[in-house]
Amino acid sequence: MAEANLDKLFHDTLKDIYFAERQILKALPKMARAAQSAETKAAFEKHRDETEGHVERLTQVFEILGKRAQGKTCEAIQGIIAEGEEIIDEYKGSSAIDAGLISAAQAVEHYEIARYGTLKTWAQQLGLKDAVALLDATLQEEGATDKALSQLAVAAANVKARAA
Ligand code: FE
Ligand code: FE
Repeated sequence: MAEANLDKLFHDTLKDIYFAERQILKALPKMARAAQSAETKAAFEKHRDETEGHVERLTQVFEILGKRAQGKTCEAIQGIIAEGEEIIDEYKGSSAIDAGLISAAQAVEHYEIARYGTLKTWAQQLGLKDAVALLDATLQEEGATDKALSQLAVAAANVKARAA
């Protein structure tokens, strides 16, 4: 077994977010289908495309480590996605659906931001310069997505939910 050090922690956490990103890739089209407003649908579709890039960047980080890209079950993201599915079941077709979907999507983004922030810091400490750049590129996109979702929530979904 590999020594329990920062290298192992970095590799294990990379497997965690790789698993998570691939689950997110499957969840986003379902969220786009359930969304009511064209803006919310478009936001989820745009981020689905970006998420393909996130998976691709992670495979590049695995390459830098000389390891094969491999996921490790992440119960946290499974729970967050399950909550999103619950919202779809309970609110589909209602005036609050977009507010609910956006809140679920922001929980996903915050999980990703936490993971990429940590991985970027560890990559810096491990001297993995190219990995730092790849992880930072995704971190920036997750942050921008979170901000866009906040604006969508305020501008449309929350107002609609209150009006119902
Ligand atoms: Fe992502
Ligand atoms: Fe994301």
